[in-house]
Amino acid sequence: MSCKPFPKIKCVRALCQQGVGSDQGADCHDVADTHWLNCGLAPVATPMSVHAQYSQTRKSWGINALGSLVVEVEADDGTVGVGVTIGGEPACYIVEKHLSRFVEGQDPRDVELMWDQMFRASLNYGRKGLPVQAISAVDLALWDLLGKLRGEPVYALLGGKSKDRLPVYSTTGRPDIAKQLGFVGAKIPCPYGPSDGDEGLRKNVQFYKEWREKVGPDFPLSLDCYMALTVPYATRLARALEPHGLKWMEEFLPPDCYDGYKQVRENLRGCDVLLTTGEHEYTRYGFRQLLESRCVDIIQPDITWLGGITEARRVVAMAAATDTIVIPHGSSVYSYHLQYAFSNCPVAEYINMSHSADQLVPYFGGLFPDEPLPKGGFIDLPDRPGFGVTLKKDNLTRPYPRTDEESKRQADANIKRPMPQTAKMPF
Ligand SMILES: [Mg+2]
Repeated sequence: MSCKPFPKIKCVRALCQQGVGSDQGADCHDVADTHWLNCGLAPVATPMSVHAQYSQTRKSWGINALGSLVVEVEADDGTVGVGVTIGGEPACYIVEKHLSRFVEGQDPRDVELMWDQMFRASLNYGRKGLPVQAISAVDLALWDLLGKLRGEPVYALLGGKSKDRLPVYSTTGRPDIAKQLGFVGAKIPCPYGPSDGDEGLRKNVQFYKEWREKVGPDFPLSLDCYMALTVPYATRLARALEPHGLKWMEEFLPPDCYDGYKQVRENLRGCDVLLTTGEHEYTRYGFRQLLESRCVDIIQPDITWLGGITEARRVVAMAAATDTIVIPHGSSVYSYHLQYAFSNCPVAEYINMSHSADQLVPYFGGLFPDEPLPKGGFIDLPDRPGFGVTLKKDNLTRPYPRTDEESKRQADANIKRPMPQTAKMPF
């Protein structure tokens, strides 16, 4: 008995939204000016808070400047896989003009080969940030396609379920509502940064304390510091909030301050507050630094940013070897499938994207109308193949279209690549 034939990839398409601010999409920062994530309910400290001109709102410094990227990968039987990330039009350019050549014509099962070629070929301008986000969207589209071709959910492709149901906490401006909705915990943004001085620190403590009083002593309540603090400030803040039951302090330093994270860990020996980071970290090389130094208790890769599922499963395995918990940032179904598959990913994040954090709405805005929503503190996945969501393309455009002939030429280059004829030691 031989294996059944498998389709090859015919075409890669990179799409973005027509104008930012239209439908939010995969860029969770592209929200209304008065949205809670843009300081509509309370201030939110950011790395730009040190510049007074940009301290009032997050959109004032262009946190949403790039918008969404949507990648479609189409097999020659017409099946289409979808992946998303941020990066907008610049990311579309990278996917169409560069990454597509490593995907068109390939067997969709060869995800390791394609990831390796995309990453190595973009080393001279990539390694972190936008190019790896673009690779992520292509990789996620491949896994979605693979699931659809095999008629299985992605978690099943990754090894099956490691848990019957996935609990979920909420990042929100209204932890009281999150508690009522059954979430297993909540996380609020840190309002003030070091440039607001001692008064700002006192106001941060007061802000946390007020929410603690509203949700009661037993509801896990964490603080997201979005890269805004310094080593001494983060140390003082964690100590000040420990008596009020701070569950974890998240991303308190800029992501390149690896030594700073280690220093805060040292400063807080014996403190009950858990330390977390990783939302803006990329690939196994970046996460290795966080894991080896044991500077945090929890890593928080964004599956649509760090390199997609192919890279995320490596990072999850590395984290398991250091007994570090993985709680991915946002990324909805792209996280949930990974989390169902691996036992060291015990709880999911749901970022409440509603204007005033008082309703449950899809994380990816209008991109996937059938995106599963949390219910009673759990995320349950529908019985659908791939990532199980349907792309709504109404507001999407393809800024760098390529002809079918171009795709075919690239596909042929892969399909007809020469096979090795002479065996040799490959290192
Ligand atoms: Mg965060």
